Amino acid sequence: MSAPEVYKFGGASVKDAEAIRKVASQLKQHVGKPLVVVISAMGKTTNALEALILAHYHDPAEMSNHYQKLQEFHNSIAAALLGDQKDDLMTELHDLWVELNWILEEDPHPDYNYHYDQVIVFGELASTKIVSAYLKAQNVDHDWLDARSFIITDSDYREARILWDKTEEAVDKILKPVLASGKIALTQGFIGSTVYLESSTLGREGSDYTAAVLAHCLDASSVTFWKDVPGIMTGDPKAFEDVTRLEEITYREALEMTYYGAKVIHPKTIKPLQNKNIPLFVRSFDHPSHPGTKISTSSAKKLPPIVVVETDQALIQIATKDFSFVAEGHLSEIFSVVSSLRIKVNSMRNTAMSFLLCVRNEPPKLEKLQAVLSENFDVKIEDGLELITIRHANESMLEKMHRGRTIIFEERFGDTDQFIVRMEG
Ligand code: ASP
Ligand code: MG
Repeated sequence: MSAPEVYKFGGASVKDAEAIRKVASQLKQHVGKPLVVVISAMGKTTNALEALILAHYHDPAEMSNHYQKLQEFHNSIAAALLGDQKDDLMTELHDLWVELNWILEEDPHPDYNYHYDQVIVFGELASTKIVSAYLKAQNVDHDWLDARSFIITDSDYREARILWDKTEEAVDKILKPVLASGKIALTQGFIGSTVYLESSTLGREGSDYTAAVLAHCLDASSVTFWKDVPGIMTGDPKAFEDVTRLEEITYREALEMTYYGAKVIHPKTIKPLQNKNIPLFVRSFDHPSHPGTKISTSSAKKLPPIVVVETDQALIQIATKDFSFVAEGHLSEIFSVVSSLRIKVNSMRNTAMSFLLCVRNEPPKLEKLQAVLSENFDVKIEDGLELITIRHANESMLEKMHRGRTIIFEERFGDTDQFIVRMEG
């Protein structure tokens, strides 16, 4: 068997019947080649499931509303795709809805993260069932595989870590034979299972990571993310004019971009690929013949300025109460609280009298942080901020970013400029 390829289709690429038809026509061209296809939940289904889970805890009446809508959404796409051939698929979807309903009829589990993962997986299960049934109707030879049989993780629900040895073993046993038989292997992104056979997930947008994990285990020749953008851009087209597509970047650049908050790929994606030198392509599913962006070991291209904006940030100012310097002992105390609350620090800085942390504005976590640290420190929190990072800035770009913005602080290190600014409007 030649080295397989891995394709990932995100939520936008399977958001409705028309999108799924496109996926199928693309996959038709690959029949007979070893290909793994990783698919997300359809459109905004994961958000809808999150609302359902919250309602399960707090608002049972709303819960049945969400549950209904979710069913209708999927059932109507299934009907649009398969017409009068839809019966088998409807039975399979019905089984999923019944299984979900069993969970919802019970009281929600006291461990929210655990409960979340048991429910959230239905998005990926339903979307892949629908895509699979449509591929079958189109005579695209493939096997539907439950990712939970080979993506094996620890029990850190909602942010589970891959157990690599177990995953590799299971991929060898379950996935490889399908590819060797010349069939496309169709599976879900984002979801996995613990060794106790409980569902687990890899974190929001985790399908990217699933694709990378499988590529690593299979020594794939490449991975392609099919997206609703032309490739990786120099900035968010919704926020900036004049953004252009990056033709190629290094793994390192991609890591830097995701670290600073670029949403194009899940931050954990790069490492498993870089470790085996597997190139990653980000391409447009609307224009499959366009080249997109290539991410690999080296790139001959000189990069233009790249702008990454993280919105909804908060700045935490921590000062000693007795006018003493913020010293190493204080930092270790601060960080033990930060890490126990799983707060991700996006930027930090220390001055004589205070220590500054820029983090995502998650009020429940920040209130806890403030409560705990207030015993020994004065803690002030300002929200409504943005963290803007520019890689490879030039003068005109820096000037442009300063214009019309209230900058709270800025910093430069190597090829990276960062600004914390007050959000406009
Ligand atoms: N469906 C999941 C989410 O929306 C995973 C993914 O799409 O990558 O976060
Ligand atoms: Mg997605």
